Amino acid sequence: MRPSVIAIDGPAGSGKTVVGQRIAEILGYLYLDTGAFYRALTWLALNRGIDPHDGQALAMLARQASIEIERATEPGERGYRVLVDGQDITHELTLPSVSNTVSIVAAHPEVRAEMLPLQRRVVRRGHVVIAGRDIGTVVAPHAELKLYLNAPLPVRVARRIAQLKAIGIEPDPNAVAAEMAERDRIDQSRSVAPLKPAPDAVILDTSTMSVDEEVAFILDLIARKDP
Ligand code: C5P
Repeated sequence: MRPSVIAIDGPAGSGKTVVGQRIAEILGYLYLDTGAFYRALTWLALNRGIDPHDGQALAMLARQASIEIERATEPGERGYRVLVDGQDITHELTLPSVSNTVSIVAAHPEVRAEMLPLQRRVVRRGHVVIAGRDIGTVVAPHAELKLYLNAPLPVRVARRIAQLKAIGIEPDPNAVAAEMAERDRIDQSRSVAPLKPAPDAVILDTSTMSVDEEVAFILDLIARKDP
């Protein structure tokens, strides 16, 4: 049978969004980027002056706020729009202030406990490609297909710089490298739902593959499950 839930995990800049969106488009599935939930909460916390080290306060904020992710009507940066209490903050999600703080926010068990039901609700509906750090291990351990994308840090940094340039931002390469390395470190070492491949995930080193090759490889995996 064709997999109904496709989980994609991997570190920052491993290509989850680009590949996940393409696969979702081809299959007619919803694409859900769970990083957007953590980024939206981080943006809100920074805006309200809430300490990113205060897990209880952040969890309360997550309970009070309405974080909605909807399909973009126009092709945007990430193919979807993120609304916080009705306000479209999609373009704020990649601000350096958000990127530099999001892993601290996402490491709190109380925060993850608030985000989990929102993400599982989407998984239950099926026909979804869902990307993040703990999808195959925690959010959707029963996903019929689990992928773990990886690439060495310099490759991922170069990709992120190209993405930022494409939207008119001229980044400092050292700052991008430092931010991604630190985010990976925090994501891999946190006590709850750390970034790691599920035991049954297919691991893909994307450093030598083009996006087309990755997509073809994944479609082949899907076809094998749906002969
Ligand atoms: O995927 P993206 O880079 O937008 O994710 C931002 C951050 O959100 C990650 O570095 C991680 O700290 C957190 N995250 C997470 N669990 C997920 C998705 C994202 O902890 N499932």
